[in-house]
Amino acid sequence: MKVLSPVTQIDHPLFQKHQINVWVKRDDLIHPVISGNKWRKLKFNLMHANQQEYQGVLSFGGAYSNHIHALAYACKNNNLKSLAIIRGEEHYRNNSTLSQAISWGMNCHFVDRKTYKLRNNQNYLNELSQQYPDYFIVPEGGSNQHALAGVSEVIYELDKQLSYDCLMLPVGSAGTLSGLIKADHNRHHLLGVAVLKQDGYLEQEVNQLLASEPNKHDNWKILNNFHGGGYAKFSHDDCLRISEFNQLTGITFEPIYSGKMLLAFLALLEQGYFQKNQTVVLLHTGGLQGINGLIEQNKLSAEMWSI
Ligand SMILES: *Cc1c(COP(=O)(O)O)cnc(C)c1O
Repeated sequence: MKVLSPVTQIDHPLFQKHQINVWVKRDDLIHPVISGNKWRKLKFNLMHANQQEYQGVLSFGGAYSNHIHALAYACKNNNLKSLAIIRGEEHYRNNSTLSQAISWGMNCHFVDRKTYKLRNNQNYLNELSQQYPDYFIVPEGGSNQHALAGVSEVIYELDKQLSYDCLMLPVGSAGTLSGLIKADHNRHHLLGVAVLKQDGYLEQEVNQLLASEPNKHDNWKILNNFHGGGYAKFSHDDCLRISEFNQLTGITFEPIYSGKMLLAFLALLEQGYFQKNQTVVLLHTGGLQGINGLIEQNKLSAEMWSI
């Protein structure tokens, strides 16, 4: 198996003070367009769609979704059609994320919140597959069993790259965390940072995605105190801290996913969460396409964040 993304060691005065080694697994570098963990999660989904001779893939997402953006490009690359059910109004088709997706051939259907809530409802899914029999349906965020197989490769790559104690990552729908848990077999501490407010729902998602696993996995945890106010919410101060860190390390973390993991990591470090001489790997899940959308919505300053 080929190693798809490098690991880079990073330096910071706090790391020296606490005597810990910090590396970043650079899944943001896997592909210039297809966002890191979405590339991992789509790999076997698209392979399956092609093998089963579907003509396209249908999935669900918000108007700035990294998953939808990645799906559009990946389908184009794999000679598959793509169809997205988007939460929100028609005018979103002009935003930076969807205008690109549409330029790659994606078809977008806009639905209200109530309809969007049905995205995991079996009757609704049956209706969609009757309406679009040639489309393989992938859940929001791409998180299904095919996704776990793709994400597992992160662990196999890291096994070849370095020895480490803890792997940290942002958690949105928990597909990525579940894939890591599946492949790790209780060898490392896997620490997820919830990027949205939740109350046990993500843990349930993990348990559901791993329900058919023969072995029990208890080497993981989801931290719930670092969502910064909710999904895609962050303070000016958070942004400054992420941006400062980006300048220091030369790696760009964005404030919706990887940046929240980073701030959580720094907070844990200051709390003495890690032991001396431990090695921590931060999984950079990508998501940089989202920065343009945040600038467009005036949530980030163009001068500081243009990439
Ligand atoms: C989707 C996404 C995540 C969350 O991954 P899940 O598998 O949904 O938990 C994390 N980081 C980035 C950049 C993403 O786009």
